[in-house]
Amino acid sequence: MQNDILEILISEEDIKKKVTELGEKLSAEYVGRNPLVICVLKGAFIFMADLVKSINVPLEIDFMAVSSYGASTKSSGVVKIIKDLDVPVEGRDVLIVEDIIDSGLTLSHLIEMLNNRNAKSTRVVTLFDKPSGRKVDLQADYAGFIIPDAFVVGYGLDYSEKYRNLPYVGVLKPEIYSH
Ligand code: 5GP
Ligand code: MG
Ligand code: MG
Repeated sequence: MQNDILEILISEEDIKKKVTELGEKLSAEYVGRNPLVICVLKGAFIFMADLVKSINVPLEIDFMAVSSYGASTKSSGVVKIIKDLDVPVEGRDVLIVEDIIDSGLTLSHLIEMLNNRNAKSTRVVTLFDKPSGRKVDLQADYAGFIIPDAFVVGYGLDYSEKYRNLPYVGVLKPEIYSH
């Protein structure tokens, strides 16, 4: 698995530091409230698990799975709900936890949906951000790392369902895509 990685972009240690930092900021934002923290599966599962440990307020978690990519490395723009939330968001302070924002298409659909369900507030935290890939005008409220327009894997992020368990984030060797 490690052999398929061309270059480590962000180390395990740097990720750890950043996640703690984001958690501290979010603790300040949500002090005195009880946010509903939503993990967007599957890519955000590791980030979510690490992040909530650093958020120092009472909170609830839920999971949602959407699909916009199929097996490709670019967003199709069509967002399908694979798994919906278990709890209503009406009146809740919602924090969406994303792994990475590229085109922004997935997230803009999600935000619209949560607003239609009358969330009290909707904030977005993403660990990685590729602003150069944007197709819609959208920004995360909190972003960990700004990264270049390359397809990355690891720390929850997959290529064809592989590499999610790498503890760092890296770029795959080009020959992996051409298999
Ligand atoms: P968007 O709709 O913003 O283009 O992309 C949304 C989702 O596509 C992300 O939450 C993530 O799951 C996936 N994605 C976007 N860029 C990358 C990438 O570089 N690597 C991987 N593995 N997934 C990505
Ligand atoms: Mg995602
Ligand atoms: Mg994926």
